[in-house]
Amino acid sequence: MDKSLVVVTETLNGELTLASLECVEEGREIADRLGVRVRAILCGSEVAPLAQTLAAHGAEAVTVIEHEALAQFSADGWLQALTPVLRDVQPALLLAPDSGQVRAWLPRLSARWHLPLVGCCIRVNIIGDGYPEIIRNTYGGACQERLIWPYATLVCAMLTPGARGVGAPRGGRATEVTVVRPNLEPARFRDRTLRTLPADPRTVDLSEAERIVSGGFGVGGPDGMALLRQLAEQLRAALGGTRVAADRGWLETQRFIGSTGKIVAPKLYLAFGVSGAGQHLAGITDSECVIAVNSDRTAPILQRADLAVVGDLHEILPILLAKLRALAAAGSPDLIRPATVALEPVLAPALEVSP
Ligand SMILES: Cc1cc2nc3c(=O)[nH]c(=O)nc-3n(C[C@H](O)[C@H](O)[C@H](O)COP(=O)(O)OP(=O)(O)OC[C@H]3O[C@@H](n4cnc5c(N)ncnc54)[C@H](O)[C@@H]3O)c2cc1C
Repeated sequence: MDKSLVVVTETLNGELTLASLECVEEGREIADRLGVRVRAILCGSEVAPLAQTLAAHGAEAVTVIEHEALAQFSADGWLQALTPVLRDVQPALLLAPDSGQVRAWLPRLSARWHLPLVGCCIRVNIIGDGYPEIIRNTYGGACQERLIWPYATLVCAMLTPGARGVGAPRGGRATEVTVVRPNLEPARFRDRTLRTLPADPRTVDLSEAERIVSGGFGVGGPDGMALLRQLAEQLRAALGGTRVAADRGWLETQRFIGSTGKIVAPKLYLAFGVSGAGQHLAGITDSECVIAVNSDRTAPILQRADLAVVGDLHEILPILLAKLRALAAAGSPDLIRPATVALEPVLAPALEVSP
């Protein structure tokens, strides 16, 4: 029996998702403590070359399940493909990204096999004689839940995307790659992905957004937030904010950022009226370029910002919006570049985001 730790990974547009690589790296750390191997499993069609990327992020063994019917996601297809492989490997811990796809198949597997399953997990510790202890935030982040099942033979945990970030790949890691070509019955797949629509950058999940416009208590109310929404529209950015803004109902609850909200890693993060409390900053650590507008020059967000603007957002926002609208009317294809031309040295990395 190969007593290993298994990470089930996934792809998007032919690439491994960052959330998958995070899971592999988390798995690598846990496996080192347990003295077991990390096996990454990947389902798809012609995905075998991605095994090297999984190895570079810490997988010691990779099982690639190849079948043309797995070219597009199907929860039934994934269950048909994964069940025999998992039965064979008999892992003690199964890690997977907390994604829509995984939420479509893993709860069904856990129900069939009577396995403990934890969502929104932020970390896995190893305690006692090697029991996995799953950590997740609860009560709006006021507490952390520590969950263990001493008698479970297999525990499944779905790791929140962005909870740990992705480290640099390491070349030269040896890995054992097994390619499995199962006999699937696509006619019995009850669900199919017909096509994947390109994400609208304004409504995309914040953890995947490349540009974010964020509002805090300083926006002053729903009207201020509506102005920020217009700015996000102009910049084709996603709208987010602080927990205070969400608690007041100015923003959807699933769009607040921080240690108890979404963890984000955009190329450009524009914060208006956000003070920069520790819980909020914990959610933007991996942002590439932060621009903050705040009337208080001592606000902590200004220390984190690459560009700190001290001023009243209610004066700055209308000017910025008017400038962007004028550029749009003049047919400028990219509104960020000309609007910020004077700030190019600071903004250069963020300007490379795709429109
Ligand atoms: C257990 C726990 C978990 C938490 N988790 C999170 C979390 O995940 N995410 C999160 O965001 N918060 C979280 N919080 C709350 C956090 O501690 C802060 O209270 C919150 O982030 C502050 O939000 P804010 O910046 O919008 O408001 P404030 O701290 O009130 O800041 C408003 C800012 O706006 C500025 N301002 C005011 N008027 C203007 C103007 N006209 N122009 C420009 N600037 C202006 C002010 O100078 C100020 O800096 C948590 C708290 C607890 C206790």
